[in-house]
Formats: sequence, C-alpha cells, structure tokens
Amino acid sequence: MRYHTLIFDLDGTLLDYRKTEDAALYITYQALINENLPSNLLPLYREINEAVWRDLEKGLIDPPKLKTQRFRKLFRALAITGDPEAFSTRYLEELGKGGYLLPGAIEVLEQCNGKVRMVSITNGLEKVQKSRIALSGIGRFFESVIISEEVGYAKPDPRIFYHLIHEMGLSGPEGILMIGDGLTSDIQGGINAKIDTCWVNPENFQSNGLEPTFVISRIDELAETIGLC
Ligand SMILES: [Mg+2]
Repeated sequence: MRYHTLIFDLDGTLLDYRKTEDAALYITYQALINENLPSNLLPLYREINEAVWRDLEKGLIDPPKLKTQRFRKLFRALAITGDPEAFSTRYLEELGKGGYLLPGAIEVLEQCNGKVRMVSITNGLEKVQKSRIALSGIGRFFESVIISEEVGYAKPDPRIFYHLIHEMGLSGPEGILMIGDGLTSDIQGGINAKIDTCWVNPENFQSNGLEPTFVISRIDELAETIGLC
C-alpha cells in the first residue's frame, strides 16, 4: 500500500463550513445588531474573513487578533455601530454549534477505517473545532486531531506537519497523504513538508502552479483514487 497515514483537512473537505458560517453570522447579527440585515453581509464577511485567514497563514496576525479583526473590518465596511468583541464572542459560540458534514464524508471515513492510520490537521480555533468535531461524530475515526490554534502553527507552515509526524512516532513524510480543499493551506503545506497531497477541488479551480499528487472533485473519490478499495 502506498499510504499508511491519511491526514484530513476538516472544513470544506469533511465538514460544511459555509453552512456553519452562514447560520452563525445570521444568528449573531440578529441577536446583537439592532439594524436590518444588509443584503451583502455574507459575501462581504467571506471576503474579509478569507483575507484575515490568509494573513494568519502568512504569519502576519495571530488567532486572538483574527477573531475580532474580521468583525472590526466588517463593521467599518458596512458602517455598523456595535462592539466587534462581543460580536466575535457570540459568533464563535454559534460557530461551535455547526457540526454539518459534507456529502460523502462519513462514507469515505468508513471506507478507509481500519486500513490506514487517520488523523486531521485543521487551521481553526480550538474551542470551535473541538465542539464541531464532537457534534459531527467524526472524531472517532481520528487517532489525533491537530488544531492550529492549539499548537501555534498553521498550515502551510511545515512545522504543523512535523508536529504530527513526531506525535505519531513516524520517521518522516514517506507514506503520508494530506487531503484537503485548500490550495494555499493543505496543498502548499503538504508540499512544504514533502508530504504527498490530494486536492479536493469541486469547483475545478486552477492550481496556480502547485502540483498536487492527486486531484479529485469529490471526497468520495478518495479511496479508489489512492487504491484503498
Ligand atoms: Mg479546508
């Protein structure tokens, strides 16, 4: 067998982050902001949030700053009067309630279960991710879940992968496959750590010069693609 260990990304790969994010944002906005819901709230928030996460991946900001920075920017862009810190606290609480799975996620974990070692590395906030993993029921498949906030490194920093290799008692990157939807985090991270990669690319995006070992459009193509079934 070519791979003995599979590392799964969580959001956009196994868990439905969009659904979680949409619900958390609407609920928090309606609870804390005494104004009508702006029609561009979601797309604008996504744009701002993606930009702050890119900054985190580049090491330009740290998780505590990220949490409130995105709402500070959102409030400014929409001319909302409110407390970004209180908004962030409530939003994180709501986010932790979103354990929605993407189609095919459980099936692929069941297919691989018992045949390889399975772990997860997620760029996310510790409390939020732990709660969502528990709600989704996928925690039982993983020998270990590494959360960037907890270890202090985020994908694509190779140190988060070295941390895992060390924790699992492995000798190096051979025989490990990183599976994820994030080009700048999962795929770049795998390449940085010399780990093979499988890019989950449902929207058929360009790979911007990066060369994943495999590209699949749905997570349920994984087992067959890597010869696990
Ligand atoms: Mg992802």
